[in-house]
Amino acid sequence: MRKPVYVYKGEALASYGFGDEHPFGSDRHAAFHDELAAADLGAAIQYAEPRRASVDDLALFHTPQYIDHVSRMSQEGTGFLDQGDTPAFPGIFDVAADVVGTTLAAVDAVMAGDASRAFVPIAGLHHAARDRAAGFCVFNDCGIAIEYLRARYGIRRIAYVDIDAHHGDGIYYGFEDDPDLIFADVHEDGRYLYPGTGRADEVGTGRARGTKLNIPMPPGATDEDFAAQLPRIEEHLSALEPEFIIFQCGADSLEGDPITHLCYTEETHAITATRLCALADRFCDGRIVGTGGGGYNRSNLANAWTRVVRAFAAPD
Ligand SMILES: [Zn+2]
Repeated sequence: MRKPVYVYKGEALASYGFGDEHPFGSDRHAAFHDELAAADLGAAIQYAEPRRASVDDLALFHTPQYIDHVSRMSQEGTGFLDQGDTPAFPGIFDVAADVVGTTLAAVDAVMAGDASRAFVPIAGLHHAARDRAAGFCVFNDCGIAIEYLRARYGIRRIAYVDIDAHHGDGIYYGFEDDPDLIFADVHEDGRYLYPGTGRADEVGTGRARGTKLNIPMPPGATDEDFAAQLPRIEEHLSALEPEFIIFQCGADSLEGDPITHLCYTEETHAITATRLCALADRFCDGRIVGTGGGGYNRSNLANAWTRVVRAFAAPD
Protein backbone atom coordinates (compact mmCIF):
# COMPACT_ATOMS: atom_id res chain seq x y z
CA MET A 1 0.00 0.00 0.00
CA ARG A 2 1.16 3.52 -0.78
CA LYS A 3 2.58 5.37 2.22
CA PRO A 4 0.78 8.52 3.42
CA VAL A 5 1.87 12.11 2.87
CA TYR A 6 3.18 13.49 6.14
CA VAL A 7 1.84 16.96 7.01
CA TYR A 8 3.46 18.70 9.95
CA LYS A 9 1.27 20.34 12.56
CA GLY A 10 1.82 21.68 16.05
CA GLU A 11 2.17 24.67 18.32
CA ALA A 12 5.93 24.74 17.83
CA LEU A 13 5.43 25.47 14.12
CA ALA A 14 2.54 27.89 14.65
CA SER A 15 4.76 29.91 16.98
CA TYR A 16 6.99 31.07 14.13
CA GLY A 17 5.42 34.47 13.54
CA PHE A 18 5.93 38.10 14.41
CA GLY A 19 2.63 39.13 15.99
CA ASP A 20 -0.84 40.03 14.76
CA GLU A 21 0.25 43.32 13.18
CA HIS A 22 2.93 41.62 11.06
CA PRO A 23 2.15 39.93 7.69
CA PHE A 24 3.94 36.80 8.96
CA GLY A 25 1.53 36.26 11.87
CA SER A 26 1.14 33.06 13.87
CA ASP A 27 -2.41 32.54 12.56
CA ARG A 28 -1.08 31.29 9.18
CA HIS A 29 -0.68 27.78 10.62
CA ALA A 30 -4.34 27.48 11.67
CA ALA A 31 -5.58 29.07 8.44
CA PHE A 32 -3.92 26.26 6.48
CA HIS A 33 -4.76 23.42 8.82
CA ASP A 34 -8.46 24.38 9.00
CA GLU A 35 -8.67 24.26 5.20
CA LEU A 36 -6.73 20.99 4.99
CA ALA A 37 -9.01 19.37 7.58
CA ALA A 38 -12.06 20.51 5.60
CA ALA A 39 -10.59 18.87 2.46
CA ASP A 40 -10.96 15.55 4.29
CA LEU A 41 -8.11 13.64 2.63
CA GLY A 42 -8.53 10.73 5.03
CA ALA A 43 -5.78 8.11 5.26
CA ALA A 44 -3.91 9.66 2.33
CA ILE A 45 -2.32 12.06 4.80
CA GLN A 46 -0.86 11.59 8.24
CA TYR A 47 -0.15 14.38 10.72
CA ALA A 48 3.36 14.50 12.15
CA GLU A 49 4.93 16.46 15.00
CA PRO A 50 7.44 19.29 14.74
CA ARG A 51 11.02 18.65 15.87
CA ARG A 52 13.74 21.05 17.05
CA ALA A 53 17.02 21.31 15.12
CA SER A 54 20.31 21.07 16.99
CA VAL A 55 22.99 23.75 16.77
CA ASP A 56 25.01 21.26 14.71
CA ASP A 57 22.11 21.08 12.24
CA LEU A 58 22.01 24.89 11.95
CA ALA A 59 25.78 24.98 11.44
CA LEU A 60 25.46 22.81 8.32
CA PHE A 61 24.47 26.02 6.50
CA HIS A 62 24.89 29.02 8.81
CA THR A 63 28.10 30.53 10.14
CA PRO A 64 28.90 30.11 13.87
CA GLN A 65 29.00 33.91 14.21
CA TYR A 66 25.46 34.24 12.85
CA ILE A 67 24.11 31.42 15.06
CA ASP A 68 25.64 33.22 18.08
CA HIS A 69 24.08 36.50 16.94
CA VAL A 70 20.59 34.95 16.84
CA SER A 71 21.19 33.37 20.23
CA ARG A 72 22.12 36.74 21.77
CA MET A 73 19.19 38.56 20.13
CA SER A 74 16.84 35.82 21.32
CA GLN A 75 17.92 36.43 24.91
CA GLU A 76 17.63 40.22 24.57
CA GLY A 77 14.29 39.79 22.77
CA THR A 78 14.05 43.26 21.19
CA GLY A 79 15.16 45.04 18.04
CA PHE A 80 15.68 43.48 14.65
CA LEU A 81 17.82 40.59 13.44
CA ASP A 82 18.39 42.41 10.14
CA GLN A 83 17.86 45.94 8.79
CA GLY A 84 14.21 46.11 9.87
CA ASP A 85 12.18 43.28 8.33
CA THR A 86 12.73 40.49 10.85
CA PRO A 87 12.03 41.42 14.48
CA ALA A 88 13.67 39.60 17.38
CA PHE A 89 11.48 38.33 20.22
CA PRO A 90 12.33 36.38 23.37
CA GLY A 91 12.90 32.75 22.41
CA ILE A 92 13.09 33.35 18.66
CA PHE A 93 16.15 31.09 18.46
CA ASP A 94 14.21 28.00 19.57
CA VAL A 95 11.15 28.84 17.48
CA ALA A 96 13.29 29.25 14.36
CA ALA A 97 15.13 26.01 15.22
CA ASP A 98 11.73 24.26 15.41
CA VAL A 99 11.02 25.22 11.79
CA VAL A 100 14.39 23.87 10.67
CA GLY A 101 14.06 20.66 12.68
CA THR A 102 10.63 20.04 11.21
CA THR A 103 11.88 20.38 7.64
CA LEU A 104 14.68 17.94 8.54
CA ALA A 105 12.11 15.58 10.07
CA ALA A 106 10.21 15.73 6.76
CA VAL A 107 13.41 14.84 4.90
CA ASP A 108 14.02 11.92 7.28
CA ALA A 109 10.45 10.63 6.90
CA VAL A 110 10.74 10.61 3.11
CA MET A 111 14.25 9.11 3.13
CA ALA A 112 13.13 6.36 5.53
CA GLY A 113 10.16 5.55 3.30
CA ASP A 114 7.70 6.21 6.14
CA ALA A 115 6.10 8.96 4.06
CA SER A 116 5.54 9.01 0.30
CA ARG A 117 6.07 12.80 0.33
CA ALA A 118 5.99 15.41 3.10
CA PHE A 119 4.78 18.98 3.57
CA VAL A 120 5.74 21.57 6.20
CA PRO A 121 3.45 24.62 6.07
CA ILE A 122 5.45 27.06 8.20
CA ALA A 123 8.85 26.66 6.54
CA GLY A 124 10.65 27.52 3.32
CA LEU A 125 12.42 30.51 4.88
CA HIS A 126 14.38 31.18 1.72
CA HIS A 127 15.76 34.67 2.34
CA ALA A 128 18.07 33.84 5.26
CA ALA A 129 21.70 33.88 4.11
CA ARG A 130 24.50 31.80 5.55
CA ASP A 131 25.55 34.77 7.70
CA ARG A 132 22.43 36.88 8.23
CA ALA A 133 18.64 37.06 8.64
CA ALA A 134 16.49 38.65 5.95
CA GLY A 135 12.86 39.10 4.93
CA PHE A 136 11.10 37.41 7.91
CA CYS A 137 13.56 34.50 7.70
CA VAL A 138 15.84 33.65 10.64
CA PHE A 139 17.30 30.23 9.73
CA ASN A 140 17.11 28.92 6.16
CA ASP A 141 15.50 25.51 6.65
CA CYS A 142 15.77 24.68 2.93
CA GLY A 143 19.48 25.52 2.81
CA ILE A 144 20.07 23.44 5.92
CA ALA A 145 18.02 20.56 4.44
CA ILE A 146 20.22 20.58 1.33
CA GLU A 147 23.39 20.32 3.42
CA TYR A 148 21.72 17.74 5.69
CA LEU A 149 20.79 15.48 2.75
CA ARG A 150 24.44 15.52 1.74
CA ALA A 151 25.94 15.05 5.20
CA ARG A 152 23.51 12.44 6.48
CA TYR A 153 22.46 10.56 3.35
CA GLY A 154 25.21 11.25 0.81
CA ILE A 155 22.66 12.73 -1.62
CA ARG A 156 24.40 15.50 -3.55
CA ARG A 157 22.26 16.38 -6.57
CA ILE A 158 19.28 18.18 -5.11
CA ALA A 159 16.73 20.29 -6.98
CA TYR A 160 15.31 23.35 -5.25
CA VAL A 161 12.18 24.70 -6.99
CA ASP A 162 10.66 27.97 -5.72
CA ILE A 163 7.40 29.60 -6.91
CA ASP A 164 7.10 32.11 -4.07
CA ALA A 165 6.58 35.66 -5.39
CA HIS A 166 9.94 36.64 -3.91
CA HIS A 167 13.27 35.42 -5.25
CA GLY A 168 14.87 32.69 -3.11
CA ASP A 169 18.06 34.71 -2.69
CA GLY A 170 19.26 32.85 0.41
CA ILE A 171 19.38 29.61 -1.56
CA TYR A 172 20.58 31.14 -4.83
CA TYR A 173 23.57 32.98 -3.35
CA GLY A 174 24.18 30.25 -0.76
CA PHE A 175 24.77 27.76 -3.60
CA GLU A 176 25.59 30.04 -6.54
CA ASP A 177 28.88 28.24 -7.26
CA ASP A 178 27.66 24.74 -6.34
CA PRO A 179 27.13 22.64 -9.48
CA ASP A 180 25.12 19.97 -7.63
CA LEU A 181 22.41 22.32 -6.40
CA ILE A 182 19.85 22.45 -9.20
CA PHE A 183 17.91 25.68 -8.79
CA ALA A 184 14.71 26.85 -10.49
CA ASP A 185 12.91 29.97 -9.23
CA VAL A 186 9.92 31.77 -10.77
CA HIS A 187 9.35 35.08 -8.99
CA GLU A 188 8.12 38.63 -9.46
CA ASP A 189 10.75 40.69 -11.30
CA GLY A 190 13.19 42.17 -8.78
CA ARG A 191 12.73 45.65 -10.21
CA TYR A 192 9.28 45.68 -8.59
CA LEU A 193 9.64 43.51 -5.48
CA TYR A 194 11.94 42.61 -2.59
CA PRO A 195 14.70 41.35 -2.59
CA GLY A 196 15.47 42.80 -6.03
CA THR A 197 17.52 39.83 -7.23
CA GLY A 198 16.94 36.84 -9.54
CA ARG A 199 17.64 38.27 -12.97
CA ALA A 200 17.40 35.82 -15.86
CA ASP A 201 21.16 36.12 -16.42
CA GLU A 202 21.89 34.86 -12.90
CA VAL A 203 22.58 31.27 -13.95
CA GLY A 204 25.22 30.22 -11.41
CA THR A 205 28.95 30.91 -11.35
CA GLY A 206 32.09 28.94 -12.18
CA ARG A 207 31.47 25.22 -12.56
CA ALA A 208 27.85 25.82 -11.53
CA ARG A 209 27.07 27.93 -14.59
CA GLY A 210 23.84 26.66 -16.12
CA THR A 211 22.64 24.81 -13.03
CA LYS A 212 20.52 27.77 -11.90
CA LEU A 213 17.34 28.94 -13.64
CA ASN A 214 15.86 32.30 -12.66
CA ILE A 215 12.57 33.32 -14.29
CA PRO A 216 11.43 36.86 -13.38
CA MET A 217 7.73 37.52 -14.04
CA PRO A 218 6.11 40.92 -14.66
CA PRO A 219 3.65 42.29 -12.08
CA GLY A 220 0.16 41.00 -12.90
CA ALA A 221 1.39 37.67 -14.33
CA THR A 222 -1.36 35.01 -14.43
CA ASP A 223 -1.68 31.21 -14.35
CA GLU A 224 -1.31 31.22 -18.14
CA ASP A 225 1.92 33.19 -17.96
CA PHE A 226 3.25 30.77 -15.35
CA ALA A 227 2.14 27.69 -17.32
CA ALA A 228 4.13 28.96 -20.31
CA GLN A 229 7.30 28.82 -18.16
CA LEU A 230 6.67 25.49 -16.42
CA PRO A 231 8.16 23.35 -19.24
CA ARG A 232 11.45 25.23 -18.79
CA ILE A 233 11.59 24.05 -15.17
CA GLU A 234 10.79 20.50 -16.22
CA GLU A 235 13.49 20.54 -18.91
CA HIS A 236 16.02 22.05 -16.48
CA LEU A 237 15.44 19.33 -13.88
CA SER A 238 15.25 16.52 -16.44
CA ALA A 239 18.60 17.55 -17.94
CA LEU A 240 20.34 17.64 -14.54
CA GLU A 241 18.68 14.58 -12.97
CA PRO A 242 18.24 15.42 -9.29
CA GLU A 243 18.09 12.74 -6.57
CA PHE A 244 15.74 14.73 -4.31
CA ILE A 245 13.39 17.71 -4.82
CA ILE A 246 12.68 20.50 -2.35
CA PHE A 247 9.63 22.57 -3.36
CA GLN A 248 9.14 26.04 -1.87
CA CYS A 249 5.52 26.81 -2.73
CA GLY A 250 5.04 30.31 -1.36
CA ALA A 251 1.42 31.41 -1.75
CA ASP A 252 2.23 35.13 -2.01
CA SER A 253 2.27 34.67 -5.79
CA LEU A 254 -1.56 34.40 -5.79
CA GLU A 255 -3.77 37.34 -6.71
CA GLY A 256 -4.81 39.34 -3.67
CA ASP A 257 -1.64 39.00 -1.64
CA PRO A 258 -1.15 42.23 0.33
CA ILE A 259 2.58 42.65 -0.35
CA THR A 260 3.17 41.37 -3.93
CA HIS A 261 1.75 41.89 -7.42
CA LEU A 262 1.48 38.49 -9.13
CA CYS A 263 -1.98 37.17 -10.06
CA TYR A 264 -1.86 33.38 -10.08
CA THR A 265 -4.59 31.20 -8.62
CA GLU A 266 -4.04 28.03 -6.58
CA GLU A 267 -4.12 26.12 -9.90
CA THR A 268 -0.50 27.12 -10.43
CA HIS A 269 0.47 25.51 -7.13
CA ALA A 270 -1.55 22.36 -7.87
CA ILE A 271 -0.11 21.91 -11.36
CA THR A 272 3.46 22.58 -10.27
CA ALA A 273 3.14 20.09 -7.41
CA THR A 274 1.76 17.44 -9.76
CA ARG A 275 4.51 17.97 -12.34
CA LEU A 276 7.24 17.95 -9.70
CA CYS A 277 5.86 14.71 -8.25
CA ALA A 278 6.14 13.18 -11.73
CA LEU A 279 9.77 14.32 -11.94
CA ALA A 280 10.42 13.01 -8.42
CA ASP A 281 8.99 9.63 -9.45
CA ARG A 282 11.16 9.60 -12.57
CA PHE A 283 14.48 10.68 -11.06
CA CYS A 284 14.30 10.64 -7.26
CA ASP A 285 12.50 7.44 -6.17
CA GLY A 286 9.52 9.73 -5.56
CA ARG A 287 11.32 11.84 -2.97
CA ILE A 288 9.95 15.38 -2.64
CA VAL A 289 9.43 17.66 0.37
CA GLY A 290 7.21 20.75 0.17
CA THR A 291 7.60 23.85 2.31
CA GLY A 292 4.95 26.55 2.59
CA GLY A 293 7.09 29.66 2.15
CA GLY A 294 5.43 33.08 2.02
CA GLY A 295 1.77 33.97 1.60
CA TYR A 296 0.08 36.73 3.53
CA ASN A 297 -3.51 36.48 2.33
CA ARG A 298 -4.83 33.77 4.65
CA SER A 299 -7.41 32.20 2.32
CA ASN A 300 -4.84 32.15 -0.52
CA LEU A 301 -2.24 30.26 1.51
CA ALA A 302 -4.89 27.87 2.84
CA ASN A 303 -6.12 27.06 -0.66
CA ALA A 304 -2.72 26.89 -2.37
CA TRP A 305 -1.04 24.69 0.22
CA THR A 306 -4.06 22.38 0.49
CA ARG A 307 -3.88 21.89 -3.28
CA VAL A 308 -0.19 21.03 -2.98
CA VAL A 309 -0.92 18.40 -0.32
CA ARG A 310 -3.77 17.04 -2.42
CA ALA A 311 -1.41 16.74 -5.40
CA PHE A 312 1.23 15.03 -3.22
CA ALA A 313 -1.43 12.55 -2.07
CA ALA A 314 -2.86 11.84 -5.53
CA PRO A 315 -2.64 8.20 -6.63
CA ASP A 316 -0.11 7.46 -9.37
ZN1 LIG B 1 7.52 35.54 -0.55
